[in-house]
Amino acid sequence: MTEKIILHLDMDSFYASVEVRDNPDLKGLPVVIGADPLEGKGRGVVSTCSYEARTFGIHSGMPISRAFELCPQAVFLKPDMRKYARASESIMSLLREIGGEIEQVSIDEAYMDLSSYLTYENASGHAADIKQEILLQEKLTCSVGIAPSRTYAKIASEYQKPNGLTVISPFDLPGFLSPLPVLTIPGVGKKSAGVLARAGISTIGDIVRTDIQVLQEIFGSHAVRLHEIASGTDREGLRESGPRKSISRDRTFLEDAIDTTVIMEHLNLMVLSLSHELTERRMYSRTIGIRIRNRNFITRTKSVSFMQPVRDARILQKTINSLFAEIWTGEPVRLIGVRCSGLVLLDPVQKTLLDYLPDNEA
Ligand SMILES: [Mg+2]
Repeated sequence: MTEKIILHLDMDSFYASVEVRDNPDLKGLPVVIGADPLEGKGRGVVSTCSYEARTFGIHSGMPISRAFELCPQAVFLKPDMRKYARASESIMSLLREIGGEIEQVSIDEAYMDLSSYLTYENASGHAADIKQEILLQEKLTCSVGIAPSRTYAKIASEYQKPNGLTVISPFDLPGFLSPLPVLTIPGVGKKSAGVLARAGISTIGDIVRTDIQVLQEIFGSHAVRLHEIASGTDREGLRESGPRKSISRDRTFLEDAIDTTVIMEHLNLMVLSLSHELTERRMYSRTIGIRIRNRNFITRTKSVSFMQPVRDARILQKTINSLFAEIWTGEPVRLIGVRCSGLVLLDPVQKTLLDYLPDNEA
């Protein structure tokens, strides 16, 4: 069985970082995004704050009046949601470009399932690439965790914030979890931690060593799940909502490929397999894209959208061939991938071959 490779990406103090990026004068200052503090009389709460503000004890969810008390000299800003949404959109579309299944869980957080084209050996290089691309494109930092389940990936991304990168392989998982405080587990709050502490349980390892009956007395039906997470056996992946929006294939070459015939052969096989899957799902694809990675983990992507959704293998192959010709620089290929996205269920009856030609050839 192949191990799951789940990535969790969380932008660092997102709203505050966007504000600092757009106004460099704020750099290094305590910045608090939230309600108007009105000289300490304001109502409402802190939405996000910069790491500098955190050193004053300010944190999100805290009453804004309390934040003002702790640091009256902080820069207090009202949230500019449109600006944050714009930054979020470009980050998420960058992640979608990279490929794999993605589940966006909030404006600045997403999970990705990279099981099909990563190994735990090359995972950290790939994560570093993603962080670098976001930094180059959006001038923002994020923390990334990679692990065999969504819960562990989230623990990993939290582990070294800000600007962190933590990979926990299945092999290292039990040892990694064992010394961590119980509060590290998402969903275990201060209240549960207090109850556990009174039972002499302070680390995740303590949970593993505790009889399940004792846990059941405290957590009822949640005990089994908690014990599973603590012991490192959880393997929950993405929670897919609704029908799949994309399908993809990729191929990592054991030795970097340079022979065009070999590369084209693999591309054509992947396209055939995608076309077959589309037929099985009774779906069509609006967009097809190619991804080429070189030995330095630099990834190039390019996609094209059709006027009419497509699943015909010949058309997909023709399109992929021209995308390949457009973006391949002739350098050795480490990984190549094809992705069909914008999947739709359609009645195919009235479609003719001509309808399926891409924009630029119609
Ligand atoms: Mg965040």
